[in-house]
Amino acid sequence: MSGWTKAIADVVYPPRCRGCGVWESVGTDDLCGVCAAQLLEQVVSPCCPRCGGRVAAFELNEGRCQECRTLSAAVVQTARVGPYEGSLRDLFLGYKFRHREGLAPLLARWLSLAVQSHDWLDRVDAVTFVPSHWRRQLMKPLYPSRLLAEHAAGNLGKPFVPLLRRVHARYHQIGLSYTARQANVRGAFSLVRGVRLSDARLLLIDDVRTTGATLEECARVLRRGGASEVFAAVVCKADW
Ligand SMILES: [Zn+2]
Ligand SMILES: [Zn+2]
Repeated sequence: MSGWTKAIADVVYPPRCRGCGVWESVGTDDLCGVCAAQLLEQVVSPCCPRCGGRVAAFELNEGRCQECRTLSAAVVQTARVGPYEGSLRDLFLGYKFRHREGLAPLLARWLSLAVQSHDWLDRVDAVTFVPSHWRRQLMKPLYPSRLLAEHAAGNLGKPFVPLLRRVHARYHQIGLSYTARQANVRGAFSLVRGVRLSDARLLLIDDVRTTGATLEECARVLRRGGASEVFAAVVCKADW
């Protein structure tokens, strides 16, 4: 928008924060000062490199939080923008459930910042995503993880490659235990036909990580298909 059209637009539609919705002057990403500061605080807050879960510095042991120490993992490490709270939660809900597709570049920019803070980024050959089932996409024609992955791949200067497809739609994970979630997603994904991954190192993107059962299942499919390492990145790490 040029200077004067923006000035007119600001009178007709005063600027509004895309996070909390407050009507006031907004900065980068069209966020108010409070939301922007909160996001920055979240992205640098200490977390477990394996699952992205919140930790106090002294809680890490062998580079993993208490929960990760007892789980074997196909995902090597997980980057996240922040915990599922505050303005990040508002942005996430707007994006995923109120279909505000326009938030994809903003969330992907923060996601890319989170990934850039990890030294494994140099090892990543390509970026892919956790797909939803086609039946769900008919109901909600937004591809939350795919859009984030496309934007993030652009920001990170890595190729974007769709590698997975969802073969069944059993998906409601809410309220399930880790074991039930694992069982629920087992066999839910397969490689896109014709894909062969010889020693590829991949970054797998999803919108949220709760127990990690979905990311783990996708990573196992990618590993079985020949990938040598799978890293993950999500917008929110929700408490389990
Ligand atoms: Zn705000
Ligand atoms: Zn952990």
